[in-house]
Amino acid sequence: MTSMSVRGPQGWTSVQTQLTLVMVATAVLIVVALVWSQSTEIHRIDVNLAADAAEHGGLLDRALELEGSSLATFAYDYTCRDEMVRFVQTEDRVWASRNINEALGTYRANAAWAFDASGSPVYATRDSVLEAVPGPVPSGLSVKRVFGRDHFCHFFINGPDGPIEIRGATIHPSDDPERRTPARGYFLVARSWNRQYLAELMRLTGTTMGISPAGPGAKPSAEIVRRSGTITFTRPLPNIEGGPEEMLVASLQPGWTAAALHSSRSSLLVQAGLALLAILGLSLVLRSWVMRPLGLLRYSLASGSAKALKPLERNRTEFGQLALLVGQSFGHSAALVKEVAERKRTEQTLRESEEKYRLVVNNVSEAIIVAQDWKVVFANPSASKIFGYTPQQLLGMDFDKLVYHGDRWSVADGYRRRLAGEDVRDRFRFRIVRQFGEIRHVEASAVYIDWMQRPATLSFLADITERMDAENALRDSEERFRATFEQAAVGVAHVSLAGRFLRVNQRFCDIVGRTRDEMLASTFQEITHPDDLDADLSHLREVLSGSITTYSMEKRYIRKDGSYVWVNLTVSLMREPDGRPGFFISVVEDVSARKRAEEKEQRLAHEVERRKAELEQLIYAASHDLRTPLISVQGFVGELKLSLKDLLAELERSDAPPEFRSRIVELTRSDIPESLRFIDAGTSRMAELLSGLLRLSRLGRTAFRAERLDMNRVVGEVVRSLEFTARAAGAEVAVGDLPACIGDPMQVGQVFANLVENALKYRSPVRAPVIRITGRRQGDSVVYCVEDNGSGIAPDMRERVFTPFFRVDPKAGSGEGLGLTIVGRIVERLGGRVWVESDPGKGSRFFVALPTG
Ligand code: ADP
Repeated sequence: MTSMSVRGPQGWTSVQTQLTLVMVATAVLIVVALVWSQSTEIHRIDVNLAADAAEHGGLLDRALELEGSSLATFAYDYTCRDEMVRFVQTEDRVWASRNINEALGTYRANAAWAFDASGSPVYATRDSVLEAVPGPVPSGLSVKRVFGRDHFCHFFINGPDGPIEIRGATIHPSDDPERRTPARGYFLVARSWNRQYLAELMRLTGTTMGISPAGPGAKPSAEIVRRSGTITFTRPLPNIEGGPEEMLVASLQPGWTAAALHSSRSSLLVQAGLALLAILGLSLVLRSWVMRPLGLLRYSLASGSAKALKPLERNRTEFGQLALLVGQSFGHSAALVKEVAERKRTEQTLRESEEKYRLVVNNVSEAIIVAQDWKVVFANPSASKIFGYTPQQLLGMDFDKLVYHGDRWSVADGYRRRLAGEDVRDRFRFRIVRQFGEIRHVEASAVYIDWMQRPATLSFLADITERMDAENALRDSEERFRATFEQAAVGVAHVSLAGRFLRVNQRFCDIVGRTRDEMLASTFQEITHPDDLDADLSHLREVLSGSITTYSMEKRYIRKDGSYVWVNLTVSLMREPDGRPGFFISVVEDVSARKRAEEKEQRLAHEVERRKAELEQLIYAASHDLRTPLISVQGFVGELKLSLKDLLAELERSDAPPEFRSRIVELTRSDIPESLRFIDAGTSRMAELLSGLLRLSRLGRTAFRAERLDMNRVVGEVVRSLEFTARAAGAEVAVGDLPACIGDPMQVGQVFANLVENALKYRSPVRAPVIRITGRRQGDSVVYCVEDNGSGIAPDMRERVFTPFFRVDPKAGSGEGLGLTIVGRIVERLGGRVWVESDPGKGSRFFVALPTG
């Protein structure tokens, strides 16, 4: 059961709240009534107090006037008398004491003073009350000034026991009661407002009196204080100047006020108390009669608990009936709720199951179609996607429109047979026609069902066009791969990680001279030459570790007949999609022919080297050994020459016949010496040749140093050593800035000496020789050039000048044709190269390239 909210719907007010509001409103009304009655009472008291103030104020003033009138009479009566006029002139003290002193008591005055017309005091008398008072006029103020404005005066001065009231008048003869004549003197009388006098006044007026200082501008007033029920009157007492200095304060509390105030207060208290009690009682009653039953009902309804209604069982009011009804309705509603919950659960289960089927049918990628009477009667969203029609369009559509005409017969036949209950292939493929004529391949499965109590088929269709395309593509690609694999001009093999051949092409089999079956039964380790196996395996390990992806090497396989075949092998690793090593792909190329050629070349090179060494040995031996007999020949030729001289001397001395002698002389003087000269020239030439050969052969044995050469210094020294020859030939030799190179200082000096010597030697007969030596860096070598403007060399001779004993013109200059040969050998041994460019008749450029590092 769902629990109800304790709080009511928005905008509603509970009965409790309403009752509370009523109670509060009642309380407020009572308070207002009380306040109103109290204020009426107070108003009445105020009115009465105001009336009392007016009445007693008048009484006070009349009492004061009455009391003061005796003093005024005293002053006024005595001053319109001829005796007084005489007295101020004569100063008759006896008269004064009889008339004035005794009059003090009569008029209840305490002192009297008389002054003459000039204002000088003539008489003063006082009783014991005002004994200490010196005079009525303070010092510095004349009595004439006091009467400056009027014939009478009335003022108060400060006395020791309180204020002293002074009254006075100007003195005139009795025939001038109007006081029109000038004053004959002045008369002042005084009365002390001491405690006694005030007590008398209080008794007379029924007030409490006191004297207090008066502020400026003080006026007679009456002040009512309601709280205490008193009326306070103030009456300023004028000083000599006419302004107030002190004032009389009289307080009065009319007898009725205390009672009235008391009764008003107590009635208020009683009324308030009663009101409070009434409200309290009412709220208690309301609480137990209304609010509590209501609260219980409300709680019970809100919480759905019948237990909360228990206290109301014996309630005889409507609440009791209500509780009974609510209790009964709880019973009904519990049953109802149970039933509703049950129904809801069933509906929910149904809905969920429907939802599940709907979800499956709507989201399955396969098209689901129900066909009845060869028409679509149900289609899911995937069906509409596959056919390209909206679900509404599909419903009722004839299958003739959906199935490609080529497949229509077989699909319709299957449909008929399925409906007839025959056993039909339940998976089949056919083509469909989409909305705009596009043809797609589908794979379908169908079963017989009852649809709305009539036979129908339920079919599941999947679009397999892409799959078929992919299958075709895969087939094509496999075909292409197979063709490529099989028809490759090189051997291709797939080799397992353990070394077993998994797949080999025919070319591989041909190269290793084995059949395919033999290959597939063997490992590459078994058919690899033992000397090459370690290198192969170590490369494979690197590929497997991933440090290299592929490698190539030359190795030998053992053919079935036991012979070796050299191959160039390239291996790469094929990995599985997850990155794990799958198998090796080996590509082999038969390089036996090249290997054989290389081996032959190597053998030939060795042979050449050997022959060269032999030749050098031979040249050395020949040149060295031939020198000895040559020197003997040269020596014996010298001996022969000396012997010829001896022969001629002997002949002179002999007596031989003249013909004979002339014949001998002719022979010894011309023929023999000429022959000897030929022998001499021949042997000299031979000696030169031998020394040239010796130098050449020595080159092969000389140890070379390889050091960094400052070529400006090396070539500079060469040019300096040839300076004499150059000058003799009238030649100009210019040396540029030459970059350094690596070489042997002696040998490199020899190269440049030969080249410069040749440039001087083979100069042009028609112009003075000009020789330039330059050098420039080129890659990791320096190319030096010795350029001359000499005779030049014909193109067909340029290569040959570096061969031994070759001279372009054997008659031109001296030489054995070995200089450039030696240059070539030295440069070659230094790891360099020498070549010549030339323009016949214009000059030649000999280039020497030497390494820089
Ligand atoms: P040779 O001892 O004859 O000088 P070389 O080997 O030094 O021998 O030179 C071979 C031949 O090359 C020379 O006989 C000459 O004909 C030719 N030759 C060398 N240098 C020059 C040059 N600078 N100008 C023209 N011909 C040259």
